[in-house]
Amino acid sequence: MKPPRLGIAMILSGPSGAGKSTVCNLLRQRNPGLCFSVSCTTREPRNGEVDGRDYYFIDQKNFQRKIKNNEFVEYAEVHGNFYGTLKSEIIERVRAGKDVLLDIDIQGAFHIRESSKQYSLLEKCTEFVFLGPPSFGELEKRLRGRGTEKEEVIMKRLETAKSELDHWRDYDYLVINKEVEQTVKDLETLFDILHKSTKRLEDSGFYT
Ligand code: 5GP
Repeated sequence: MKPPRLGIAMILSGPSGAGKSTVCNLLRQRNPGLCFSVSCTTREPRNGEVDGRDYYFIDQKNFQRKIKNNEFVEYAEVHGNFYGTLKSEIIERVRAGKDVLLDIDIQGAFHIRESSKQYSLLEKCTEFVFLGPPSFGELEKRLRGRGTEKEEVIMKRLETAKSELDHWRDYDYLVINKEVEQTVKDLETLFDILHKSTKRLEDSGFYT
């Protein structure tokens, strides 16, 4: 018999262009039992993005109301738009033993790390994974290859990415995204190992 355990909240973070969204999408497809924390954003949906699946696309007024109501674990302004992680996407799920995947930027991950110090449930459940590109040159190639952003936006993102790359040291795990299939396998293996951790086990009744 397995003892009851809390779920894992895996924070997948890294500079833009590291491939977080692609990796998250494939990981979700392959693991239907894995929950995904859908963030709120004030940015416009891109082609093919679906409200409620990729993001909750909300306006500034609604975003400010959610800040006031204390509905976010963290929120940040990224490249001129607001993004926020809802408490409701994480807390009840990990309590019920479900794993949750989060795709957030570096400052968001830092804020979650800080708030988890005050909140023992989050501290137990969160695992911080830095998804890095194989090199800076590769990151630039990927950002340009997307073709969805203007040069000005790309330059801004590259500048941010350069300073963000150094933050891998603040994370529990470093996964290099060279090839998406392998990266997804690496993350599945990591989940398997993390399931063996004793820190999320509830001690009541096991072996008694
Ligand atoms: P994009 O607009 O390309 O979808 O995302 C831009 C950046 O915002 C990405 O680095 C993404 O990881 C980050 N992001 C997405 N959701 C959140 C969130 O809830 N909080 C924070 N802080 N960043 C987020």
